[in-house]
Amino acid sequence: MEIKTIADIDIKLASVSKIKDVDFETLSFGNVFTDHMLVCDYENGVWKKPSIEPYAPFMIDPSAKVFHYGQAIFEGMKAYKDEQDDVWLFRPDQNYERFNKSAVRMAMPEVPEDVFMGGLKQLLEIEKDWVKKGKGSSLYIRPFMIATGKGVVAAPAVFYRFMIILSPAKSYYSGEVKVLIAEHFSRAANGGIGAAKAAGNYSAQFYPTKLANEKGYQQIIWTDDATHTKLEEAGTMNVFFRINDTLYTAPTSERILDGVTRKSLIDLAKRENINVEVRPVLVTELVEAAQNGTLQEIFGAGTAAVVNPIVGFEYQGTYYELPKLDQPVALALKEKLNNIQYKLEEDTFGWTV
Ligand code: PMP
Repeated sequence: MEIKTIADIDIKLASVSKIKDVDFETLSFGNVFTDHMLVCDYENGVWKKPSIEPYAPFMIDPSAKVFHYGQAIFEGMKAYKDEQDDVWLFRPDQNYERFNKSAVRMAMPEVPEDVFMGGLKQLLEIEKDWVKKGKGSSLYIRPFMIATGKGVVAAPAVFYRFMIILSPAKSYYSGEVKVLIAEHFSRAANGGIGAAKAAGNYSAQFYPTKLANEKGYQQIIWTDDATHTKLEEAGTMNVFFRINDTLYTAPTSERILDGVTRKSLIDLAKRENINVEVRPVLVTELVEAAQNGTLQEIFGAGTAAVVNPIVGFEYQGTYYELPKLDQPVALALKEKLNNIQYKLEEDTFGWTV
């Protein structure tokens, strides 16, 4: 896949770069941003000329619909630098498609490919020094869109702003992750917006997650809203379970985000001759496997961490500890995926761009 740049774009460069002030060794995820951002406004049915400009706050009307009705969507992807100093994206087409699916679900306009992909390419060319070499280092890419149209009237806006901001990231280590299996709260429901990367899905998780944190759990494994019997996602990641030698993960649905990492891990595992079953996984199965010693691993899968191993879970007041393995499948798969992302091994899937 080749990404074309946009001819019709305004570029205004920052007079000084902030990069010298950044300590790339001690970065905490998502708090430092590069010198420039991409901005493209949508007015009355038309996308205007995009621009790349110095990263800065901007003015927005207090009645903008993003504040009152939550019309806001985003994506999360990464750029990686190889040993030859070339910058690579991992399956950006998947993020682009998912972004526009989210837009449709939230009654927002779809963003044209040249603005999203071409704009991103040009922004990355300007910011390539912010992508550091070495496994673990990356540049996190956050495309997003908000409704800027005015009026406290509960109807879709006619004005929107699409933007891309970039944040340098170091390898992600979350510490030991213990999870609570949701028995009451849900992150999504059939017919709802769980499959969209809509901002409200994330704020809705904050309160139940805060309660879980207070009990000593870092994340929640979300279950289906109707019966709370099926395991669906872990925090803001897809989730895999290994029972005996088989990996299980739920099929994507209206309630589950179609994660790029999830589907890439499924393909990688198949290539490595690891059994993978995509089917609903029941809470009762997990508890039984933990009790009879066949449960080997649970891990979250997402762009930020690739895999996030889970050390134990609580369900109905009982805590189940997972075995400590010398060679977890989660870490082997992470290594393989990272090797493709950093161009350390041949990308037989054609995922890197
Ligand atoms: N589920 C949810 C709810 C998420 O927010 C994310 C992160 N985007 C994922 C799963 C993982 O998706 P991806 O692998 O594309 O980052």
